[in-house]
Amino acid sequence: MKTYTSKRLAFYITGILTLIMVFFMLVNFYASHNLILVLISTLLFHGISYLVVLYLLNRFIADKIKPVYKTIRDLPVSGKKLDMKITSDANVLTHVRQEVEDWAKTQTAEIERLKDLERYRKEFVGNVSHELKTPIFNIQGYILTLLEGGIDDPKINKLYLQRTEKSIDRMISIVEDLESITKLESGEMRMNMEKFDIVKLVEDVFDMEQMLANERKVMLEFVQKPERPVMVNADKKRITEVVSNLVNNGIKYNKKKGTVHVSFYDFEDHILVEVADSGIGIDKKDLPRVFERFFRVDKSRSREQGGTGLGLSIVKHIIEAHDQTINVKSKVDEGTTFTFTLEKAR
Ligand code: ADP
Repeated sequence: MKTYTSKRLAFYITGILTLIMVFFMLVNFYASHNLILVLISTLLFHGISYLVVLYLLNRFIADKIKPVYKTIRDLPVSGKKLDMKITSDANVLTHVRQEVEDWAKTQTAEIERLKDLERYRKEFVGNVSHELKTPIFNIQGYILTLLEGGIDDPKINKLYLQRTEKSIDRMISIVEDLESITKLESGEMRMNMEKFDIVKLVEDVFDMEQMLANERKVMLEFVQKPERPVMVNADKKRITEVVSNLVNNGIKYNKKKGTVHVSFYDFEDHILVEVADSGIGIDKKDLPRVFERFFRVDKSRSREQGGTGLGLSIVKHIIEAHDQTINVKSKVDEGTTFTFTLEKAR
């Protein structure tokens, strides 16, 4: 479609007016025979009327478009107002069209973002209720059996109370993990940076996880334990959570007589911590999803081990809150290796 600028429109309108005037001048010329006067007055008329029409046209367009433009300008996109200025220059239409097209693009992107958020919210609520449903129904079942006479049966009364407690523990860990994720995502959880020895921290985690490792016959080892402390600058409590989670997963998803090895690599500004296991591994197609909330390769295996599917998601959030990175490599049946960086203490 051909677009007209106001300049061109003004030129055409005045052109038509001039032709009409020339017609009358020529009629006049027949009467007066003064050609120069006819030419000068024609040019003068064209020039003046061009300027007047151009001015009126621009004013008209600006007045009509201003309210629309103002509405668009005042509509915030992602909390920001667009910085548009209406001018009365000759390219006002082209200018407006460009700005409105840009505005429409931003709005479409914003709508897509909101749709994604809504999808995520629905999925999240669905996942949470699904996760909580199992322990709640289990508790209901045990309590009902106990109320219906089971309480007096020594064969099941203690067992069912223990199972009830296990289900309550599970609900507590889901709720605690959800709380951590919400705080980390909203930026509410501040990192308390301090200097500490990462080797000592891993040793402490090994101690905490030793019982589970013994149960599963998995060895927890340093590949080459540094002789001197390796000092880093980070939130000690949160990094303990990260290492515990990775070591705990290394044990849970391992094979009998498997190993969980921890190594440290010294870089200029960073320390790279590697947690490698000789476990069941993760399929290539699932690998990019392991940091997603509630993602589990094998749901029943994870639940059986008390997993919530939120651990790695929390781990990633914590590392990112430190402005550091975490990566994963894995081979089915051979094992999985997680590496993350920490800032070296000065
Ligand atoms: P979960 O509570 O289920 O362990 P995570 O977020 O810690 O949740 O891990 C997500 C999923 O990633 C696990 O369910 C498991 O399928 C897989 N996974 C995590 N760590 C390992 C590992 N070291 N070896 C094999 N699979 C793993």
